[in-house]
Amino acid sequence: MTPLVKPFIAPKEKMIPEIERVLYSGYIATGKEVSDLEVIIGNYIQNRNTVCLNSGTAALHIALQMTGVKAGDEVISTAMTAEPTNTTIKLTGAKIVWADVDPATGLIDPDDIEKKITDRTKAIMVVHYAGMVCDMTKINRISEKYGIPVIEDAAHAFGSGYAGKKIGSNSKYTCFSFQAIKLMTTVDGGALAIKNATDEEMEKARRLRWFGLDKNTSRLENDIKYAGYKYAMNNVNAVIGKVQMQSFDGVLSRHISNGRYYDEELKGIPGVKLVPYYKDTEAAYWLYTIKVDNREEFIRMMTDAGITASQLHHRSDTHSVFAESKCELPGLDEFYDNFVHIPCGWWVDDAERGRIADCIKKGW
Ligand SMILES: *Cc1c(COP(=O)(O)O)cnc(C)c1O
Repeated sequence: MTPLVKPFIAPKEKMIPEIERVLYSGYIATGKEVSDLEVIIGNYIQNRNTVCLNSGTAALHIALQMTGVKAGDEVISTAMTAEPTNTTIKLTGAKIVWADVDPATGLIDPDDIEKKITDRTKAIMVVHYAGMVCDMTKINRISEKYGIPVIEDAAHAFGSGYAGKKIGSNSKYTCFSFQAIKLMTTVDGGALAIKNATDEEMEKARRLRWFGLDKNTSRLENDIKYAGYKYAMNNVNAVIGKVQMQSFDGVLSRHISNGRYYDEELKGIPGVKLVPYYKDTEAAYWLYTIKVDNREEFIRMMTDAGITASQLHHRSDTHSVFAESKCELPGLDEFYDNFVHIPCGWWVDDAERGRIADCIKKGW
């Protein structure tokens, strides 16, 4: 079966000696390897105000803490995402207010964001689902107009672009995941990038990842002013990330090449609707998304041909923990009934993508 997701791990000859060096170095906790990776990631996304963490979930949780949201506040978010986008909001005590999605893309609808703003809204969470980029031109305008910070959940969008730059320096906070199945993996890991961060903001982000302690001051002189978490990345995951990043351009360009191939090849096929891309955005094509008629039949046809096709994510608004946020989301209903992902990643070669396109052209 051609899988929908598959971790890319750099060649053994490059990876194993580096892991071995760090494992037996006497220093495997958060240290130089992590700072090195922060520089590499920071340069890649053109935002050096980046801290590496042990997960994307940690990045979301710290970003939310940095905005100061708490019980009694509201955070506008989308239900078309993986669960941590919204469980982390819940952990702050704030109420999630769902904005609907654009039924053509599954991405949060800026007009509905604006409708859902109240004087309790303290942050807007947007998700670049599947590596497609939200309509940031409109979202930026709303953020400025109301003075509400945006957190971009870019767990699927490391390498995606907006306005000629990589995702990572557009909104006040951008959160990346380096979890096992994401575009770039450190086995587990994540990063938080802060736009125009002050020294105080960087210090706060670093303290929040380490109990509230300042790593640059000795333990004896340290004073915890607010409690932080245990969210730091360690040197072992960081060195894996350093080696992985040497191959990342190649991995990403294969995703993008396959994605653009499908954008052309799957045009005008009866029963298939392609997803449009917003102005000035560039998808990283972590997953390739289409909308199909008779989805169950489609998935069966693909499975019979040895190709995985599925939705991969479950809408978040149906979980009991989010019951207080329940509301009508007709755009999401429409998208959710028809969307499906097909294999698009680095493991799909020219022959396989041709075969996948042919299967779909034959119908189901
Ligand atoms: C994977 C993912 C996360 C969380 O990342 P972890 O590194 O697994 O904690 C957050 N949001 C979305 C949309 C994700 O897919």
